[in-house]
Amino acid sequence: MPYTKSILVTGCAGFIGSNFVPYFLEQYPHYRIVNLDLLTYAGNLDNLAEVDDNERYVFVQGDICDRALVESLFEQYAICGVIHFAAESHVDNSIKNPGVFVETNVNGTFTLIDVAYKTWMEKPFVWKEGYEACRFHHISTDEVYGTLGEEGLFTESTPYAPNSPYSASKASSDMIVRAYHHTYGMNTVVTNCSNNYGPKQHDEKLIPTIIRKALAGQKIPIYGDGKNIRDWLYVLDHCKGIDLAYHEGISGETYNIGGRNERNNLYIAHKICEILDTLKPKATSYQEQIAFVEDRAGHDRRYAIDATKIETKLGWSAEENFESGIVKTVEWYLRKYN
Ligand code: NAD
Repeated sequence: MPYTKSILVTGCAGFIGSNFVPYFLEQYPHYRIVNLDLLTYAGNLDNLAEVDDNERYVFVQGDICDRALVESLFEQYAICGVIHFAAESHVDNSIKNPGVFVETNVNGTFTLIDVAYKTWMEKPFVWKEGYEACRFHHISTDEVYGTLGEEGLFTESTPYAPNSPYSASKASSDMIVRAYHHTYGMNTVVTNCSNNYGPKQHDEKLIPTIIRKALAGQKIPIYGDGKNIRDWLYVLDHCKGIDLAYHEGISGETYNIGGRNERNNLYIAHKICEILDTLKPKATSYQEQIAFVEDRAGHDRRYAIDATKIETKLGWSAEENFESGIVKTVEWYLRKYN
């Protein structure tokens, strides 16, 4: 079937987008995906080799802050939907170099949604003919809500309290999208997701680092006391939640996506070592390489998502739990690092 709709999907040479694109192309034979990605250090086109030959996939290297480029893509491809992944995403980098986080995450999101508004709408609350169904979906993080104590969960009405330059820039971009819905009547959806893991994640992130260091026989670095808790979600479960929210979410709404899989960093390191001890045994256990290092500045203690809204309103649920998803993940990295 020939495609009938072109969607601009940003930042898909990165971790989540490169899992999303093959899934989405397979699910929806009538979509063409235009992937706008700057290919920063975090983008890797090898992640998308499997869709290279797909005639419904177009790659454009460029910056989401480049207004002229974004405008030309909307026109050239008759873009009728945006799913916006592109971002600077690593908290440690945001502590060292916050400026680029503001530039990409705040100004980039503004550029994209402003071009979408001007392309799709005549004036506030009035759509150009034929553009009535166009939607802007912004991908965000649970880190905008700040940190939790031992109890409690983030819901969609938890007040924003971002603590790092990364989460502050994401919170700002969420607010811009919110404003375009309320001021101009744009058809928007925001999803705030917990920590993802799975194939194709950049080497710098926690789980690939644990696996890589373990296999290299090096120290496996764990920040502070290792008790920081994140709510881990297998990346394909996130992609399925985005798909549902993009197609069935209510305009102007936010949906939290989380796996109800709270695990602390030390548990994760031990679990990965246990799997490696089975899949790639050596004379001593990988556990012996675990080493505590100085904590990250301002390290949030605990994040955990209440996913009730997306579960009950859209019928989403996570298919993997951490213990099933992490085995698939370790197997994938074993193939990569060997
Ligand atoms: P990533 O860092 O792996 O990939 C980001 C991609 O964006 C890269 O391909 C990079 O080249 C591209 N990019 C960066 N700046 C750009 C620019 N100015 N113009 C165009 N492209 C640019 O990120 P990820 O982990 O795949 O995260 C994707 C989105 O999901 C982000 O918005 C992030 O905030 C959000 N998110 C991630 C997680 C997670 O656990 N990874 C959790 C919740 C939300």
